[in-house]
Amino acid sequence: MAEKRMFIVLLGAPGAGKGTQAKLLEEAAQLPQISTGDIFRFNLKNQTELGKLAKSYMDTGALVPDEVTIRMVEDRLQQPDAARGAIMDGFPRNLVQATAFDLMVAPYGGVTVVPMIGVDDEEVIRRITGRRSCKSCGAIYHVLYNPPKVAGVCDKDGGELTQRDDDREETVRNRLFVYYKQTAPLIGYYYAKGLLAEVDGMQPIEDVAAALKALLKV
Ligand code: ADP
Ligand code: AMP
Ligand code: ZN
Repeated sequence: MAEKRMFIVLLGAPGAGKGTQAKLLEEAAQLPQISTGDIFRFNLKNQTELGKLAKSYMDTGALVPDEVTIRMVEDRLQQPDAARGAIMDGFPRNLVQATAFDLMVAPYGGVTVVPMIGVDDEEVIRRITGRRSCKSCGAIYHVLYNPPKVAGVCDKDGGELTQRDDDREETVRNRLFVYYKQTAPLIGYYYAKGLLAEVDGMQPIEDVAAALKALLKV
């Protein structure tokens, strides 16, 4: 077996706060965030073949086909910054992806821990509909819960804040449906492996971050 790595799989509904927490953990855990949604959006923006393929699925809130998504993650894990492991945000998202991921990380000691960020549905809708992200650096804000100092402008680099196309209410409902049908079964999957750790996602951002750091001992 190769040297052990740390693979943290953040579970939780869309809007639960996975991206927000992954970004806060990157420095403390010294691990990169791997967000499959961010990689798809990057490809969409740059009009690559992958981006064109992903677009039709993302527009309706469906999952991009497993084959494509799994290959993309395999490639991403080859990057030098993932040499100690990674914080997985939005992947795996169904049982096929979870079993593929187990195989990918098996040589490095497997998945380390799976924090489940629990948030109720009404709060998820409030979080998603108020979410804004920076066009240039991807920083995540919320118009009420985590507002930038100047409305519409990123605190970090002055970039323009925009709403994701798939954060409109019609698409959000379908994404929640897809989450319950395809992703929620992973809670049982990881629980059975003794890897699940529930975190109360209804707390303020800093408190969720503190709970995660305590759990991960970082
Ligand atoms: P996910 O990556 O799970 O889809 P995000 O991290 O993008 O979720 O968060 C969704 C929205 O909710 C963002 O606007 C973010 O600022 C906000 N948010 C995240 N965590 C919290 C929290 N604990 N309390 C209030 N708002 C939050
Ligand atoms: P997210 O940024 O995690 O909310 O993802 C946005 C969209 O990207 C999803 O609604 C899917 O269409 C697609 N996507 C992200 N991650 C995955 C994944 N692991 N498998 C399939 N599709 C994904
Ligand atoms: Zn920015």
